[in-house]
Amino acid sequence: MKRIAVIGGGISGLSAAFTLEKARQNGAPLEYALYESNSRLGGVLVTEHTHGCLLEAGPDSFLTEKPWASDLCRELGLGDQLIGSNDHERKTYILCKGKLVEIPDGLMFMVPTKIIPTLLSPLFSARTKMRMAQEWFHPPHKADGDESVASMVQRHYGGEMVDRLADPLLSGVYGGNASELSVRAVLPRFAAMEAKYGSLGRAMLAARAKMPTSSNGSPPLFTSLKDGMQQLVDALVSRLKPSAMYINESVKFFNRQNGAWTVSTEQTSHQFDGVILATPAHVAWRLLQPFEPRLADELGAIDYTSSITINLGYDERVRSSLPPGFGFLVPRSEVRKMLAATFVHNKFPHRAPPDRALLRCFIGGKENVNTLTLSDEEIIRIVRNELQPILGITSEPLFARVYRWNHAMAQYGVGHLERLARIDSILKELPSLGLAGNGYRGIGVPDCIRSGSDAAATTLRALGLAREQVTPVVART
Ligand SMILES: Cc1cc2nc3c(=O)[nH]c(=O)nc-3n(C[C@H](O)[C@H](O)[C@H](O)COP(=O)(O)OP(=O)(O)OC[C@H]3O[C@@H](n4cnc5c(N)ncnc54)[C@H](O)[C@@H]3O)c2cc1C
Repeated sequence: MKRIAVIGGGISGLSAAFTLEKARQNGAPLEYALYESNSRLGGVLVTEHTHGCLLEAGPDSFLTEKPWASDLCRELGLGDQLIGSNDHERKTYILCKGKLVEIPDGLMFMVPTKIIPTLLSPLFSARTKMRMAQEWFHPPHKADGDESVASMVQRHYGGEMVDRLADPLLSGVYGGNASELSVRAVLPRFAAMEAKYGSLGRAMLAARAKMPTSSNGSPPLFTSLKDGMQQLVDALVSRLKPSAMYINESVKFFNRQNGAWTVSTEQTSHQFDGVILATPAHVAWRLLQPFEPRLADELGAIDYTSSITINLGYDERVRSSLPPGFGFLVPRSEVRKMLAATFVHNKFPHRAPPDRALLRCFIGGKENVNTLTLSDEEIIRIVRNELQPILGITSEPLFARVYRWNHAMAQYGVGHLERLARIDSILKELPSLGLAGNGYRGIGVPDCIRSGSDAAATTLRALGLAREQVTPVVART
């Protein structure tokens, strides 16, 4: 009988544990233990209900084009619970000199693919529009090495595009800064497109022409669950062995001696044949530092930022006063604490009754790190003060909830892929150690799910427990 520990019970660790559980049910001689320092499983996936509204404290959905989250939901029997974003209302605004300006139609990420809406948009100056036209004629360019997203976008479209679009779009996902994030790790398609076509605009159009046209129209951009992201956590937890879960047990120490891993919390100490570290990379750094400093140093160099989500509920009057669309992004040059706000009642309509407005605001980034230490009341006051001139909301919210996420969002800095290659080569010498989580190959929920199941599959193989074909549990029952 082999024993495997999973450390960290966020979506990455839960996915890893689920893969182990399936292998166990398929007859692999295996026991596993899942350690979670918190009193609940799910990590940053937390859903709450109040005043008839569904509040997401962490992620509210996932990108539909990345299949691993939807596939897992279907495997867990939640296929009929999947919902799509209300894309016919999809409009996003950028705060530009204090006013909301709609992102023009045809912009794919920050690449313009339709001329007229971009030319007519007040979002860009005449100079940037000229740059967009010139960009069409960029010759193929293979960059020597990695660079920041800001540097690549600057080369193609100039600084205004970085400030008004690239940076706010990335801040909304990573809480980070376009001048620090690696283009190869964060926008790998862009580097490939530039090498082949030169112009990102021409490359995007070519990619779009190759996309299959479906008779059902395009799938929604975002997918979520009717009862919120917590539904996925609950379904996963219900499939795991209750006796395998060590909740409220923070791993303080772990070590490897004579091929066996020892995992110790304040309460227990157990031995394992394999370990999957599914914590943020900075926790993995701390645990590995005493006995695997080379690996620890690489993990410790992966940066993380903190963020705060603030859900505000309002009445029907506010709802009818708000603009249509999914919400807005705030460029750094607007000098606000808020990086983005979502009009949840439009994005996922059933998450608020028809007579409620539900706003989800997002504060993040290194420059706002001190905000994390403020009281809920102070944070709510800051957000309301910032919303007032933008949306004209003066009334008291019916409810407000603040959720803080300390060092939870990984930042893939320039050189991240090279770092991953070094980590992979160290892990070859430690085959029974797996790494999963948002610090490595994707920060979104689908990527984390994939990282968890991949780490579990690799550990099973290393311990000689993998079968040629792992039958999904659902297919067997
Ligand atoms: C505010 C916010 C909004 C987001 N929005 C989206 C979105 O809309 N769509 C999307 O796809 N992604 C989104 N993301 C990103 C995505 O949700 C995360 O990257 C992903 O959920 C991370 O999962 P994880 O399991 O790797 O990490 P975590 O959720 O951080 O889980 C790690 C777990 O490890 C535990 N742990 C830490 N140390 C120890 C220890 N010593 N011993 C035992 N356990 C330990 C922690 O308590 C935690 O439960 C968002 C993230 C945040 C923070």
